[in-house]
Amino acid sequence: MNIIIFGPNGSGKGTQSSLIRNELGLAHIESGDIFRDHISNGTELGMLAKTYMDKGELVPDEITIPMVLNALKDNQEKGWLLDGFPRNVVQSEKLWEALQLEGLKLDFVIEILLDREDARKRIVGRRICVNSSHHPNNVNIDAIIPIDGKCRICQAELKVRPDDQDEVAINKRHNIYYDKNAGTLAAIDFFKNVTTEKKPVFIILKGNDSIENIKMDLLSKLKM
Ligand code: AMP
Repeated sequence: MNIIIFGPNGSGKGTQSSLIRNELGLAHIESGDIFRDHISNGTELGMLAKTYMDKGELVPDEITIPMVLNALKDNQEKGWLLDGFPRNVVQSEKLWEALQLEGLKLDFVIEILLDREDARKRIVGRRICVNSSHHPNNVNIDAIIPIDGKCRICQAELKVRPDDQDEVAINKRHNIYYDKNAGTLAAIDFFKNVTTEKKPVFIILKGNDSIENIKMDLLSKLKM
């Protein structure tokens, strides 16, 4: 099974992606993570990508598109959950072309809806447990609010991710996501506008619902 997941930074996309990955045993292909691996391995591609990532800008398509398409090819057998790509219309077009060329089916497109101000608040409210990145804490989400300033799951210290507090970078990333003409919302529309029988099934989730409810909604729709 092949799936793309979309959602603005702060929408809970990471949480839902881990769930799908574990439930369905898919390869989780995150373009941002592939870049981060290149950076930690000190590759030339990583050094170049970093100059864009640090500014909250997209890495140029000439670098990103072949890199992601190769990762998809490598995981063709297993099936994949694609996360962070496509982020613009050109990336959607190139992905669709590659899928047609390889005779691969795109089964589902998941879109998590969340308005921009809610997404911003969630990002700045995010707190990271020093023990585990899988202990969700957020001072702006009642359901996962820290307890006495400590992790609500294991009472460990919490820290903030510096990029979560950088409003300029958050804004830049959201400008790209919420751009209906050429950005990520347009990239999503590309798949909505497919008119052949190859059109993927769309799953639209309300990002301001609880994590549990979103999970249940998502799993029931994936098992259709
Ligand atoms: P993420 O972890 O998905 O937020 O991605 C971190 C950074 O990697 C982004 O801000 C971009 O600089 C870069 N990046 C990730 N995915 C893409 C993509 N599809 N196209 C261009 N740049 C990307």
